[in-house]
Amino acid sequence: ATLSVESQVETKQVFDGDKASLLVSELRKNFDSGKTKSYEWRISQLESIANMLVEKEEQIIDALVKDLSKPRNEAYITEIFQVKSSCNETLQELKHWMKPEKVSTSITTFPSSAEIVSEPLGVVLIISTWNFPFSLSLDPIIGAIAAGNTVVLKPSEISPAVSSLLANLLATYLDNSAVRVVEGAVPETTALLEQKWDKILYTGSARVGRIVMAAAAKHLTPVILELGGKCPAVVDSNINLQVTARRIIAGKWACNSGQACISVDYIITRKDFAPTLITALKEELEQFFGKDPIESKDMSRIVSPTQFARLVRLLDDDKASDKIVLGGQRDEKKLKIAPTILLDVPEEAMVMQEEIFGPILPIITVDNIEDSFSIIKSRPKPLAAYLFTNNEQLKKDYVDKISSGGMLINDAVVHVATRGLPFGGVGESGMGAYHGKFSFDGFSHKKAVLYKGFGSDPSIRYPPYTPEKVKLL
Ligand code: NAD
Repeated sequence: ATLSVESQVETKQVFDGDKASLLVSELRKNFDSGKTKSYEWRISQLESIANMLVEKEEQIIDALVKDLSKPRNEAYITEIFQVKSSCNETLQELKHWMKPEKVSTSITTFPSSAEIVSEPLGVVLIISTWNFPFSLSLDPIIGAIAAGNTVVLKPSEISPAVSSLLANLLATYLDNSAVRVVEGAVPETTALLEQKWDKILYTGSARVGRIVMAAAAKHLTPVILELGGKCPAVVDSNINLQVTARRIIAGKWACNSGQACISVDYIITRKDFAPTLITALKEELEQFFGKDPIESKDMSRIVSPTQFARLVRLLDDDKASDKIVLGGQRDEKKLKIAPTILLDVPEEAMVMQEEIFGPILPIITVDNIEDSFSIIKSRPKPLAAYLFTNNEQLKKDYVDKISSGGMLINDAVVHVATRGLPFGGVGESGMGAYHGKFSFDGFSHKKAVLYKGFGSDPSIRYPPYTPEKVKLL
């Protein structure tokens, strides 16, 4: 029995292990038929995604406004435009990416030729999260389809409007025998994770990342884990102050209210420079969001009452509450928290112990800017590390000594949209990477193929290994 589009409504209500198993068998059968391997099929699906992005732009933005009250402009740039660029790049480059890569051979196999063939893995699972619920679902799907796989997407239940829109849109625009959406929360994800997949791409917390990896290990399924962590920004005094302040704000508060895996989590700067930096941040924040930022339409709200309560706990922690130098106001009804800056919170404060994922920014001060290195290195490796400076030696040292998923000098966040760069973490911030060609590679197996003819082989290859033959070596 196969699951039709209509029966997905039923799937939504009770999606247990049996349904998950049925779904995977159906997709595996369809994968085995070979249809998803052709260049034409892949292109047709990608073109359909491109059309969907144009035709359903308003609906997608409406859903993002509903789930996160994202400013429409921000929603377009960070979610739709991002996916459009990814889809267009893939459409342009796919033929080239799919071509087997010729490699040189060695004397041992002479005469021969060799190539690396990218083959699809099979049936892949994508589990996405709520903060960029559209792009973090679609971007991996583009990679999985480009590589010729069948796919199941499990969007986040915490962004229900986008989750349900994705289920409807993908059922309408994409080949339902190869791409499916399963909506739901922990029980549905657990049922999915019990199945044998050929790859899982998971975006979310390290806590759930561990659950995903343990489930994948049972089937020896490889994983890409896109996790988070505390992303530091080191701010030197040798900078363009206004540009730095604006870029930090754009990478923190104007980026989903700080609910982004690569938003600036905390700043490290010199003690004597901190007041100057704080004044610049205050001035620019007022320019962007006005005197009463909670009322600003240009800042997203906190996604849920649970997340709001967690952020309020971070602020009201008695190790942090007297360190607030800007903001601190909150509106529980609107689920909004004003841009908040804390100065010199102790290491033990909760705000320095967990990923903030919201509009709160602690500033840690040091005597020398180089002291920031040991602070960063004493913590788990972050997904992104930022540095603002004009000092060339400091830039070199930062790139050389700090390990992080990605790194950006003199800006924040925008490396995620840089064509040609992989996106992924290291250590506690994740494993594997995607975006563009890296997505294609991440969802492909690189098959090593050697071609030989039937010409004669050197006698030393075959027993008996007589002294005469050995002498030839
Ligand atoms: P989460 O791990 O709670 O949820 C993500 C997904 O996991 C959802 O689809 C959810 O249904 C599922 N899930 C939740 N609990 C589960 C369980 N017990 N078993 C199986 N599945 C389960 O993540 P979150 O808290 O919503 O997201 C925030 C985290 O995600 C932050 O750490 C952030 O940095 C990270 N993040 C990373 C990226 C990236 O690209 N690296 C992007 C966005 C967010």
